This record gives sequence, structure tokens and C-alpha cells, in this order.
Amino acid sequence: MYEEMTSLERCQATIRLEPHDRVPVDLHNFMMTVVDEKLSPAKLYQDGQLLGEAQLASWKRFGHDMLIVENGTAALAEACGCEVSYLPGSAPVIERPLLADLSKVSSLKKPDPWNSPLCKAVIEATQFLLDQIGDRVFVMGRADQGPFSLACMIAGPETLMVGMAAGENDEEIFELLRYTSDAFILYAQIFREMGCHGTSAGEAQGSPDVISPAMYEKYCLPYAQKITRAVQNDDFFLSYHICGDTTKIIDRMAETGAAILEFDYKCDKSSAKRATAGKTTLLGPIDPSGVLHHGSIAEVEAACREAIEVLAPGGGFILGPGCALPGTTPPENIDKLLECAKVYGKY
Ligand SMILES: [Zn+2]
Repeated sequence: MYEEMTSLERCQATIRLEPHDRVPVDLHNFMMTVVDEKLSPAKLYQDGQLLGEAQLASWKRFGHDMLIVENGTAALAEACGCEVSYLPGSAPVIERPLLADLSKVSSLKKPDPWNSPLCKAVIEATQFLLDQIGDRVFVMGRADQGPFSLACMIAGPETLMVGMAAGENDEEIFELLRYTSDAFILYAQIFREMGCHGTSAGEAQGSPDVISPAMYEKYCLPYAQKITRAVQNDDFFLSYHICGDTTKIIDRMAETGAAILEFDYKCDKSSAKRATAGKTTLLGPIDPSGVLHHGSIAEVEAACREAIEVLAPGGGFILGPGCALPGTTPPENIDKLLECAKVYGKY
């Protein structure tokens, strides 16, 4: 038996594939943490102090092992020049694509995260949490979207995918992907330099629900490998997020070199375990809407138990939602998620 570990030690041992006492738990809960706030969405998500305090209050309530600090999917796009719109009850979204067409790629300007209110808020919230509890809890400051998803926001998903399907715009598309990779690296390095424990790249648009595995291999994988090489080191881990049914690309995802792969309930758990065992840590895969938001406590327990049974043996597993939790997720269901890791996830 191993001695009781801090949350930070437990997460780091898991990710380094070293022995640990039990399965750690993350919460992808930024929308939950701010749901009671009376401020407008714009004010809320641009306020680093408020985001940090809300995350801290949530940690005091639930005691999870890993904090995921973010404010949606629009921050890095904003730093690249996209306009953001704020809708009630929603995370910020991009107003419209930045480029009129792919021939304008060379006109893109170097992003400045410090000039983007959304990026600045995540940086400030992350720093606040590191100062408060970073000595015992794993703090992941999310560097937002990965190269392909960011390219979709900048060029518009239709324009980009029509270009990919035609196969005639590869020069411009690869130039755009080099630009978005560099933008991601620049933002992620800020989190590394502040002593954060890890960061993440969201690549929802690379899911087989959106593009084919062949397209993934050509337009996503090489850039995921590039950002991983640039950002990750022995003390700073990259978490790579693709939701939807990723069964067909989970082997390729493991080739990115990212220390953590975030995956969703739609992905076959045994395939995910096979693809990553002894190599990479999996994070997920409980259904955030169907189970954690709308399910009963018994359904949460059944889903967590099953996930732990398949994914925990041999280590390399962090239990949590497969994607962002809706703001009104019942706290009792989150309590049960935590309890399951403690009861069923012991090594
Ligand atoms: Zn997702």
C-alpha cells in the first residue's frame, strides 16, 4: 500500500505512469463555477480574479485533484484577431471567421494573448490558483484550441473543409496550420513559464464526427506532434482533447506524444485502453450531459464504475467528464463521481 498522496502528487504520478494510491479526478467545470454569478457573460469570462475565485470555491466544495482553468473556446482566436460575441448562458463564441478566403492567410498578424481579454483572464485566474493551492493541487491552465480547431475559427470551417476536400489549397492550408501552431505554442509557453503543471489543446474539429481519419492524419496529427514537441517537458504536460467518437483515431492520437489524451463517452473504452496502455494517460470519459447533468446518482455510479473497471488497471487514468460540464450540473452527481474514484479506483 502507498501512503496518502496530495492531489498534485497523485496526478503527476498518474501522468508519469508511476505507482499511486487511487484514480485522480478532474472537473471540466468552468461553466458550473460561474453559474450563480449575476454579471453579464462578457464581464464574467473576462475577469481573471472572478474566474480564479470561482474555481477555488468549487475546489473547496468538491476537493477534486485537477483544476481545468478556461473560459470556453474563443480566447486564442480572440488573440489572433477574431471578434467574440457573448450570449446569455453560453461560453463566449467567435462572431465570424477572420479571413474572407484562404488566399489571405499571409495577412494574419502575430497573436498577443496579453491583448486579448479572454486570454488575460485565463492567465490571471491560473496564476491566482497556483498561488493559492498550486503546491498541492494540479492546476491546468488551458491554452485553448489546437492548430486545426483554431484554423477552423480563423478561416471558417466550411471554407477550410471545402479547401481540404478539393485538395487544391494545401499550400495555404498548411501555412494557416503553421500559423495556428505557432499561436498555440506562444500562448502555452506563458502557462509553462508561470510554473503551471500542464496545459491543453482542444481539437474538437479533428474528431471523426467532423472529418475523416485520413484528413485527421494529414491536417491534424503533424501539427499536434509539433506543438507537443515545442511545449511539453518532464514537469509540464500537454493534454490533448478530442470529443465525439474518436475510436477510429485513438491510435493516432496516442502518436501525438501528448502525456494526456482527453476522450469522450462515445469512444470505445477498450480500444482507448489498448492504444494507450503503458504510454499515455487517458482523461475522461463520463458523459457530461446525459449522465452527469441529466442522469441519476445511480447512473453516475454505474458509468464511473464501468469506466474505472476498464481504464484504471495498470494506471494512466484520470476520471472526469469527457467534455465541458453544463453550468447547471447537479452537485450531488459530482460528489458521486469523486466518491467512485475513492471507492472503486484504489490501487
Ligand atoms: Zn469537447
